[in-house]
Amino acid sequence: PEIPAANFLRTIIENDLSNDRYQAKKWAGEPGPASALQNAAKDPARIRTRFPPEPNGYLHIGHAKSICLNFGLARDYGGVCHLRFDDTNPEKEEQEYVDAIDETVNWLGFTTSGPAREENRYFASDYFGYMFDFAEALIKGGFAYVDEQTPEQIRLNRGTLTSAGVNSPWRDRPAEESLTLLREMKEGKHPDGSLALRAKVDMASPNINMRDPVLYRIRHATHHRTGDTWCIYPMYTYAHPIEDALEGITHSICTLEFEDQRPFYDWLLARLVELGQLRNPLPRQYEFARLNLNHVITSKRKLLQLVREGHVTGWDDPRMPTLAGLRRRGYTPTALRLFCDRLGVSKSDSRIDYSLLEQALRDDLDPIADRSVAVLDPIKLIITNYPEGQTEPCSAPRNPHSADAGRREFPFSRELWIERDDFREDPPKKYFRLFPGNTVRLKYAYVIKCTDFDKDDAGNVTQVYAEYLPDTKSGTPGADSVKVKGNITWISAAHAVPATVMLYDRLFTDPSPDSGEKNFLDYLNPNSVQQVNAWLEPGFVATPGARWQFERLGYFVADSKDSTPEHPVLNRCVTLRDSWT
Ligand code: ATP
Ligand code: MG
Ligand code: MG
Repeated sequence: PEIPAANFLRTIIENDLSNDRYQAKKWAGEPGPASALQNAAKDPARIRTRFPPEPNGYLHIGHAKSICLNFGLARDYGGVCHLRFDDTNPEKEEQEYVDAIDETVNWLGFTTSGPAREENRYFASDYFGYMFDFAEALIKGGFAYVDEQTPEQIRLNRGTLTSAGVNSPWRDRPAEESLTLLREMKEGKHPDGSLALRAKVDMASPNINMRDPVLYRIRHATHHRTGDTWCIYPMYTYAHPIEDALEGITHSICTLEFEDQRPFYDWLLARLVELGQLRNPLPRQYEFARLNLNHVITSKRKLLQLVREGHVTGWDDPRMPTLAGLRRRGYTPTALRLFCDRLGVSKSDSRIDYSLLEQALRDDLDPIADRSVAVLDPIKLIITNYPEGQTEPCSAPRNPHSADAGRREFPFSRELWIERDDFREDPPKKYFRLFPGNTVRLKYAYVIKCTDFDKDDAGNVTQVYAEYLPDTKSGTPGADSVKVKGNITWISAAHAVPATVMLYDRLFTDPSPDSGEKNFLDYLNPNSVQQVNAWLEPGFVATPGARWQFERLGYFVADSKDSTPEHPVLNRCVTLRDSWT
């Protein structure tokens, strides 16, 4: 693995560790709820990060950046990273997503299986009780009130960037009244939208997030874990800092959009310490630039739309930027981690070229993938001077980077499949492959000379004829006796293994399909997938999970859903060279 580059987060953590900011004694014996702080108490001196997905969709390549960052920092500094399901929004969340997210994080190589995995899994919904108690404490302390304005009035009275907000008429109501109403809200006595709990901060703040943000709203909805226990649900602004604090998170790392929320994050936690509900040291929020990848959309809402409207075959369609899709496409956890490490961490937004992701996969697979030959667009080549029915073995290294990998064997015979593109009736300049009169090497076998070809009525070449030069076999002393400029791959027709090969291209033709006013669906690439009937090397077994480099064509993986031992279906993970520019 490559050594991670220094970045501002590493500097902050190293300083915090050397200043002993999270020292054991600071946690011990202080008041506060007998809460999830237990976690921190168990192991107080470590740093704690978290990856907090909302279980409302599948994880995508942007999440991989956050996962690698948070789990990676914990790993590198002897800390812990929590996988926390931020499940505070009952309508959009489902158990299916919880399971898929959990599986994916583990697949990426971060949470371990077994009991340790349970220890690192947290659910925001487990803290609903604390959040409610804290809300009561805030009301009693004069830091929150129940507002009877409609959601629309609240929005209008919040003001704009250029105008201050207007105080709610309910802002200064007695704490007792707010407490009673909050309890009634919890008991289900009020309909959705009729009341809301708001923090009492500053309606004139230049930061709109500080203008009495809503903390709780009424939602008579069934939650995938807590069922109908609650009909009030906390807002992200309120829930997230509390989740972090309860879990003893030290560094709460999020994307830049949340920068404006940091003042409220700090305000809220400081009030809760003042009120004796939480204790120092508190978590701190840090922001980094999200991943924007060219030709890719990472909005969960839009990805869901692609799935629901059938533009792709599912969340794990090999063209999807979901981690499930990339996995099925043939991406390895190592390649994804390598990509994320190479991205680094910055404080300013930028767009990353898709080729960086592809290069990480090539760099991972090149040293480890077995080589093989496939012919994707076949045309028959007849070696007219080679006896019918005769075969002889040829061999090639399994992996040129590793002598230990040994060699693979395959037969040479009179009738071969070659790529249609390796023959031209009228060759363009600098074309060194087959054309009438030219000599080329059949890789790992003989030099041949093209003698003739057949065409059908439509003018398509149907068959090519050549003669082989018997003394030129690769690996024999005569191999170099005839110099040729072209080298082509081939497969003995009688021994070839049939397969379906899926060739993928970018899903969107535009580099930034979801920016500005664009409708991303207008930029769907109509040719993002091509299915071809291919021939594979004799003896090829499409082992699930294995990857191969088909010479000249790229890296391939057996499709985890559609491939069978009887009929391999292979996905091209990536071409051998950058084909995106
Ligand atoms: P969406 O807005 O599409 O629903 P989200 O960002 O809200 O996505 P979450 O499930 O809340 O999705 O994200 C979990 C974590 O992943 C958050 O901490 C978020 O900052 C991070 N994350 C999401 N997208 C990216 C991205 N493109 N690059 C880096 N981190 C990301
Ligand atoms: Mg979110
Ligand atoms: Mg978001």
